[in-house]
Amino acid sequence: MTYDVLVVGGGAAGLTAAAYAARAGRSVALFEQQERLGGLVQSVEREGFVFDMGLRAIENAGIVLPMLDELGLQLDFVRSPVSIGIEDQVIRVDSEASLEDYRDLLVRFYPDSATDVDRIMALITRIMRDMDVLYGIDNPLFKDVLRDRAYLFGTLLPWLFRFVATIGRINRMAGPVEALLDDLTDDGGLKSIIGQHFFKGTPAFFAMSYFSVYLDYRYPRGGTAALMQLLEGFVRERGVDVRVERPIVALDPEARTVTDRNGEVWRYRQLIWCADLKTLYRAIDAAAIADPGLVRAVTARRDELEGCSGSDSVLSLFLSVDEAPEVFRAVSEGHLFYSPDARGLGDLHTSGLASLLERHVDGALPVEPVKAFLDVFFARTTYEVSIPVLKDPALAPAGKTGLIVSCLFDYGLTRRVREAGWYAEFTAHCADAMTAALAGRLYPGLSGKVVARFMTTPVTLEARTGNSDGAIVGWAFDGAHMPAVRQMQRVARSVLTPIPAVLQAGQWAYSPAGVPMAFLTGKLAADRALKGLGR
Ligand SMILES: Cc1cc2nc3c(=O)[nH]c(=O)nc-3n(C[C@H](O)[C@H](O)[C@H](O)COP(=O)(O)OP(=O)(O)OC[C@H]3O[C@@H](n4cnc5c(N)ncnc54)[C@H](O)[C@@H]3O)c2cc1C
Repeated sequence: MTYDVLVVGGGAAGLTAAAYAARAGRSVALFEQQERLGGLVQSVEREGFVFDMGLRAIENAGIVLPMLDELGLQLDFVRSPVSIGIEDQVIRVDSEASLEDYRDLLVRFYPDSATDVDRIMALITRIMRDMDVLYGIDNPLFKDVLRDRAYLFGTLLPWLFRFVATIGRINRMAGPVEALLDDLTDDGGLKSIIGQHFFKGTPAFFAMSYFSVYLDYRYPRGGTAALMQLLEGFVRERGVDVRVERPIVALDPEARTVTDRNGEVWRYRQLIWCADLKTLYRAIDAAAIADPGLVRAVTARRDELEGCSGSDSVLSLFLSVDEAPEVFRAVSEGHLFYSPDARGLGDLHTSGLASLLERHVDGALPVEPVKAFLDVFFARTTYEVSIPVLKDPALAPAGKTGLIVSCLFDYGLTRRVREAGWYAEFTAHCADAMTAALAGRLYPGLSGKVVARFMTTPVTLEARTGNSDGAIVGWAFDGAHMPAVRQMQRVARSVLTPIPAVLQAGQWAYSPAGVPMAFLTGKLAADRALKGLGR
């Protein structure tokens, strides 16, 4: 059978691409290597506790709601308010006015740097205005611009002028957040507390726009995976041939076929690759290609990508706690960014970690120095804490609370520990240290009330998704080279590959990535594929 559109990877991007291709009446197949669709966006149920394994809430970004609307889908969202905490102090972020509370919080911890704090707040305020423009309207990609005259003349055209003025400012802030903070303050603690929550080398605009993102978060009732299940229902209803547990292992770009792990060969007219891009180029046997131009193009792109790394990964601890939700509600909202120590990490997670790994480069990574590193790291890093039951009361057994505690974490360290043979001991140590960091000043007595726990690490994320280095937002920001489009005005080009009839979408196609950009690129790739098919 030949499919008009064959999609590889059933995450946010793949589901979107399949949905739009099927909506256009084309024959579509969706291949996913795992037994479940959703990719990184999963929610699991354990003894009545629902845990989100991927993102903890969803930002609309002018994309998610218009897309659902265009597809005729409805999802029951609840608000997902955010709190920010340092040591024993927590503020709630419920409006732009909360920026003043954030300022006061920082000044309490860094009184000698009050002027720097004000400078940083002024920058965040300006960026919030730019974000109002960037995400201020429903993205035109999800609107019928020619038919919807009110949108075209009343919204889009006036917005375009503001967008052109704004995008230049955004592009000028594409440098790393660390350099921006170096310009704004010499206070090491302040720099750490603001910057350590972001991926290394995060573009400054993207990082400093987070206060706006906090105000944009919403949570699907039932868990974040409800969004993926809605899309899955759509593609199944529209007749998409969904094949789970079928990793694609080979691609013949001239015959326009893919081969799955079972050795079955599938023909396509247009292919949309929504998984790790290194896997795409590894799946192609360049020696078997007849066209020398295509061999050159495929080999060059493969070599380029092999030299790049995935973004920082994440370590997540899932705790079932025998404690009432009210106890946690008294401390914070259900989505908390918490730093247990105002001194922050400094350079522990950058040069400190690099020198630890280098010292033991020839041989198994020993237990004690790594544990010493982990103890300081977990006492000083910034955590994202999500408490699903505070957003939707159905997500934990009565009188109990599930906590999801995560922080950015190094893939290389985790892999080396596993190679050294003490991975189970490592995860237990991490879980104890993370729990202790929260129990210290935030939730006294937490450790004694945990009834069950489990963990995901960069290596488990890698194994589950096939994402290089356990990455969660595509390519590393701090690599020598960024092999993806990174400017919004060029986003349409992000889905192109050098291979005829093969498109790409998702976190590896555009940077900075995330679920909204996975949706956007999924739709763009579907549009291109449909164009490629002709009428
Ligand atoms: C803890 C955590 C927190 C996050 N927080 C946020 C947030 O706050 N905001 C935000 O926007 N984003 C967040 N993200 C990131 C976001 O979830 C991802 O960027 C997004 O889901 C990527 O979607 P994707 O479809 O591009 O890729 P993925 O979700 O990785 O999907 C790729 C799919 O392809 C499949 N696959 C791989 N290889 C093959 C193959 N050979 N054949 C068939 N199938 C294959 C994989 O199994 C997977 O299902 C977070 C992620 C995590 C893990």
